[in-house]
Amino acid sequence: MRKISIVVPCYNEEKVLPIFYNEIKKIMLDMNYLDFEIILVNDGSTDATLEVIKVLAKKDSNVKYISFSRNFGKEAAMYAGFKECTGDYIAVMDSDLQDPPSLIPEMYRLIREDGYDCVATRRVSRTSEPKIRSYFAKKFYKLMNKISNVDIVDGARDFRLMTRQVLNSILEISEYNRFSKGIFGFVGYNTKWLPYENVERAAGTSKWSFWQLFVYSLEGITAFSTTPLVISSLVGILFCLISILVIIAIIIKTLVYGDLTTGWPSTICIIMFVSGVQLLSIGIIGQYLSKTYLEVKNRPLYIIKETNR
Ligand code: UDP
Ligand code: MG
Repeated sequence: MRKISIVVPCYNEEKVLPIFYNEIKKIMLDMNYLDFEIILVNDGSTDATLEVIKVLAKKDSNVKYISFSRNFGKEAAMYAGFKECTGDYIAVMDSDLQDPPSLIPEMYRLIREDGYDCVATRRVSRTSEPKIRSYFAKKFYKLMNKISNVDIVDGARDFRLMTRQVLNSILEISEYNRFSKGIFGFVGYNTKWLPYENVERAAGTSKWSFWQLFVYSLEGITAFSTTPLVISSLVGILFCLISILVIIAIIIKTLVYGDLTTGWPSTICIIMFVSGVQLLSIGIIGQYLSKTYLEVKNRPLYIIKETNR
């Protein structure tokens, strides 16, 4: 019998986990032609998530868990789940039921019958989300697709089902600064996109603030595009050209009219502006340098404190 692994990152999800488990169990009973395992990755929760997980694992031997020594982030949790799972088909989904488990049979059918390697999902609405967040998310996807050569779909969720072959390719990418949406795009393969309407969280609260999302988007840009470096070089070249023109103009002016020592305010303005551009460029370079620094250290992506595997 073929086996499906469901990888679920969990961070402070004590309220929603039992509901999630019941829902997924229903689907798995419907899909009884498959073996299954649920891999719950406890990402250093500070509430009773681990206890809830242990209760589930005790009553159901298909429930496996991995518990981190601290919060390492959703990206690390997904990677850990991917590493530990044993299925022929691997699904990854949030524990808050915003990724409808009811889509899984259809996703499986698309892989088995239509020959796709991977079935991914995309939200077509962003109801209940703050307007400003949706606005910036849209802009981010537009920008990302312009400046990087991997395809990143607007509204893409991490929720997807893939074959073992696709998963192995993803596991080969063991970089420290992980941006899954880019990694999924990078590995390629034949991917089918399933659109669905946004679903509200079943219980508990979102773990992402606007600021965290903003930082995550910068991570995405620096991980999959070096265009900002090119931009800062281009701006630098532009300013060199302008300054040469200005210097020539000043020399001619001085030769014709003599040195009048006027123009102090404009000098200050120019100095301020140019040093601003320099700082920005150094900042961009610093971003890449710091990512390289973290990558070179080769630290583990996560540390497991306990598991039942
Ligand atoms: N999550 C995690 N580690 C974190 C933050 C979130 O494992 O540091 C998990 C969380 O438990 C959930 C999923 O990632 O299963 C998505 O989080 P959330 O629902 O808070 O994000 P949103 O749906 O609001 O984007
Ligand atoms: Mg959610």
